[in-house]
Amino acid sequence: MAAASNSVELGFVEKRTPWKLRSKFFPSKFGGCPAWLRLNNLPNRSDMLCKTCKKPLSFLMQVYAPIPEIESAFHRTLFLFVCVYGKCNLRNDNTNFVVFRNQLPRKNEFYSSEPPIYNEKSSSDPSAGKYQPICVVCGCAASIKCSKCSEVDYCCEDHRDNDWKWNHQNVCEKESNNSGTKKKNIVNKFLLPEYELVTETEELPSTTPEKSDEEKMKEYRQFMKSAKAPKDLQDDPLDELDNLMKKNDKAFNKFQKRIKLEPEQVLRYQKGETPLWVSAEHVPSEKDIPNCNCGAKRIFEFQVMPQLLNYLSIDNGDDIVDWGTLAVYTCSKSCEQGIENYVKEFIWKQDVSDNRRE
Ligand SMILES: [Zn+2]
Ligand SMILES: [Zn+2]
Ligand SMILES: [Zn+2]
Ligand SMILES: [Zn+2]
Repeated sequence: MAAASNSVELGFVEKRTPWKLRSKFFPSKFGGCPAWLRLNNLPNRSDMLCKTCKKPLSFLMQVYAPIPEIESAFHRTLFLFVCVYGKCNLRNDNTNFVVFRNQLPRKNEFYSSEPPIYNEKSSSDPSAGKYQPICVVCGCAASIKCSKCSEVDYCCEDHRDNDWKWNHQNVCEKESNNSGTKKKNIVNKFLLPEYELVTETEELPSTTPEKSDEEKMKEYRQFMKSAKAPKDLQDDPLDELDNLMKKNDKAFNKFQKRIKLEPEQVLRYQKGETPLWVSAEHVPSEKDIPNCNCGAKRIFEFQVMPQLLNYLSIDNGDDIVDWGTLAVYTCSKSCEQGIENYVKEFIWKQDVSDNRRE
């Protein structure tokens, strides 16, 4: 995914054969297990626990967004994790989300420098399981095993206990001569349903382009100064204007109007530009976005839209996470810290303003 500076790349979900979404094909995708880019030095589970309920965060999505001009970012993927439980979801608060950046040069120790060939048989070569044990529930780096048979790997006790309930108690120590079947996960209530994220460039209606707020304001001021405006309106045009424009309504209407053009969009990618805010409240100022560990500023890269919530089917009634929009900010230099390890970037969560909630 990469957009020309002034156009927006929109993301949509689409069903896709699962093997085509593996690491080898550098996918952008939603749900399932992460298709890791760098295949070792995966994030630790301890960096991916919900700060509120302490349960493992779920893999939400990954966005493949290489930067051709930066040699070390020939491959580049951003990974988002979330606690899906509604009780951990706080208004305008990002504590139950984590985003990681990882990137690789064209010549690297994991992948061929030529584009991959689509072939199911070789689709899982290479994969992260070659480099370290992987949790059978979530696809993240594992650090513990089943304490009875020691043949199945887990990232945390929570996943070990769940897998025991869902599957493993039926096979543990029963088929010791056929350990292959133990690794097959049959029930998995943890992963979100898997889809590919496909993109297309947003097309705006070809009528006269909408004037920016600034332009409208300028026109308004000019109008007020001109003889055309009635005398009593000329007194304090700015106060008048503030009253006329209920800022939140305006932001929300603008948001609605823009997504109406492509109502199914789940993602807007527009690196270095301004997100489409859903409300005038809780919009970050520059000082709210922390710099990257390398010292460089972070810039906006993409936002996740509320439409994606429709695809989060979990066994928990209606009590699931919610957002107006999630804006992801990444290192403006896409620094090399992202090559050796998965580095944390920054996410800003904005909810719909109170008077808009149903
Ligand atoms: Zn939680
Ligand atoms: Zn796990
Ligand atoms: Zn076991
Ligand atoms: Zn950096």
